[in-house]
Amino acid sequence: MTCIFCKIINGEIPSYKIYEDNFCISILDINPRAKAHTLVIPKKHFERIDDADDEYLSKILLSIKKTIEILKDKIKMEGYNIVVNCGKVAGQEINHLHFHILPRYSNDNIKIEFPPVKEEYKNKLKEIYEEITK
Ligand code: 5GP
Ligand code: ZN
Repeated sequence: MTCIFCKIINGEIPSYKIYEDNFCISILDINPRAKAHTLVIPKKHFERIDDADDEYLSKILLSIKKTIEILKDKIKMEGYNIVVNCGKVAGQEINHLHFHILPRYSNDNIKIEFPPVKEEYKNKLKEIYEEITK
């Protein structure tokens, strides 16, 4: 087995684990982009959200909520961003589903930027809507 997150879950690779339940572990990201940048990782190896079965997926959301509560309590985060990269094209580097929690504070100097508005799609909202719903 070569998946680095499976190895962390099995204890073969050490990590700073801040939460664990039957479905997920939450660990500190080794390259933090924010204070206590945390990864919530399902114990079962799914690559992406759409690979996970419905019941497990709903449990993951509860693990995320528990982790948020810990971060609110312990490091008094004021807000947070959740980032999930699914697919190489979307920037996923580790092919084991994981949810980034980035704790946020006022004046933390962190920018999580949405791409600028694409006029080409803005001008075609109706066509795109029809493509999706036809
Ligand atoms: P992705 O781009 O796949 O969404 O993000 C993968 C994340 O995993 C990165 O933020 C990276 O810093 C983190 N990461 C990679 N290897 C390790 C590791 O061995 N331990 C921990 N704790 N985080 C890791
Ligand atoms: Zn894995």
